[in-house]
Amino acid sequence: MSSNANPNRVRTVAFRLTAWYLVLFTLAALALMFIAHARLRATLRQRTDADLVEDLAELEALYVTRGITTLQANFEREAASSGIENLFLLLVQPQGKILASSDLKPWKDVVLPPKSVGPLLPGHIAHQILTGPGREVAVRMACKGMADGNNLFIGLSLAEEDEWMKIFRQILASAMLAMIVSGGFMGWRLAHRAMDGVKRVTQTALQIGQDRLGKRVNIGREGQEIERLAQAFNGMLERIDSLVKNLREVTDNLAHDLRSPLTRLRGLAETTITSDSRPVDCSELAATVVEETDALIALLNTMLEIARTDSGMHQLMNAPIDVGALVATTIELFRPAAEDCGISLKYAAAAEDLTICGDLARLQRVMANLMDNAMKHTPCGGTISLSVTRDQGHVTIVVADTGDGIAAKDLPRIFDRFYRGDASRSQPGSGLGLSLSLAIVRAHKGDIRVESAPGKGSVFTIWLPKPNAAPQTPPHITNS
Ligand code: ADP
Repeated sequence: MSSNANPNRVRTVAFRLTAWYLVLFTLAALALMFIAHARLRATLRQRTDADLVEDLAELEALYVTRGITTLQANFEREAASSGIENLFLLLVQPQGKILASSDLKPWKDVVLPPKSVGPLLPGHIAHQILTGPGREVAVRMACKGMADGNNLFIGLSLAEEDEWMKIFRQILASAMLAMIVSGGFMGWRLAHRAMDGVKRVTQTALQIGQDRLGKRVNIGREGQEIERLAQAFNGMLERIDSLVKNLREVTDNLAHDLRSPLTRLRGLAETTITSDSRPVDCSELAATVVEETDALIALLNTMLEIARTDSGMHQLMNAPIDVGALVATTIELFRPAAEDCGISLKYAAAAEDLTICGDLARLQRVMANLMDNAMKHTPCGGTISLSVTRDQGHVTIVVADTGDGIAAKDLPRIFDRFYRGDASRSQPGSGLGLSLSLAIVRAHKGDIRVESAPGKGSVFTIWLPKPNAAPQTPPHITNS
């Protein structure tokens, strides 16, 4: 398996996650900055307006109590103390004539009242922003109608407010830059951490490519999704590992099973060639060749049949089958051989409807395999009992013998291809009978289980679903 050791960073999920995180983070920070900026400006403006209104009230009191001359002197003093370019003060008649004012020289570029404001009712206060051509700093103006009909104006340059806003913007900009840099770094770290699990899975997959199927991914703590990915991957490896082992075992067994007869055939042929062969020897050789090759063909055919049945390639017949009759016929077939060996055969069938839908020829093969095994492993004087019963959704066939039984270590493996118990090696057989039987029964959506104890015999139970029965697991059937 080849790996891209130096992947394009821009195409990595970690990079994309970080980029998305940065974009969203920057947009959120910008929106926050915009809102904070607007709020601060509004607050400063409110404070400026409140100060102007307070000043107007004081000036009005002065005008009412001390008259216009004191007001003029106050105007000049106030403007001088704040800076004449920062503050202007005016008392204007409703017709527009200026009665008193501070020094207006720096305000020539601004459209001053009364042109900028209409007539005001007594006690009424209005606010306005004044600008002038080329003027950088705006002016906030407030005016108030006096009881005698004159209007009092005060205008304040917003230079100070602008200065505060500028400082605030600088602080916000540096804070935002720091936040974006640290946020980007954190996003990069987090994305990398989240991807660590995926990297470990990839790493393990690459090592498996180097024929190390036993390797597993360590399940870390990067989060549930990654843990589940690692678990699923390990589960898949487990299955592949067992399949590969199984395949190796099958190949080894097959090679072994093919080698012995082929070696025998070769030996025979060699002996016939080297000796002064007579026609009678040749016909003996031919008979042996036919016998051995038939056995080999049967072995290969059984293997093919298991593979095809397992993969669903074999189309099963789907005809009604009376399971009671099927079992009775099988018993009759084996009865002569059983009598020869002194084995008694017993059969009990329920009196109810034992019909299922399936492939008669294949189910006959299953019964023949089970009966053949029972006969092989039951000594003379033993008993083989068969029974067929019906439950809610299925028909159950039980084949029980009083034979050798199966060793506990063999029990989980007897349905594996080519598996033969130690005690059976002296008996004829290929170790494929039970695998084929299980494949056929499973193709009928049923199951086979076995219970056995050495010296006490074995009980094979076949469970076959009845037509239209809801799928369910066989009750009370366990491999033990
Ligand atoms: P084979 O009979 O060709 O060896 P099977 O697949 O039919 O292969 O059976 C696999 C193994 O299961 C047998 O080798 C034997 O060890 C065990 N076995 C099957 N049926 C019985 C039985 N009724 N009693 C004891 N052992 C059995």
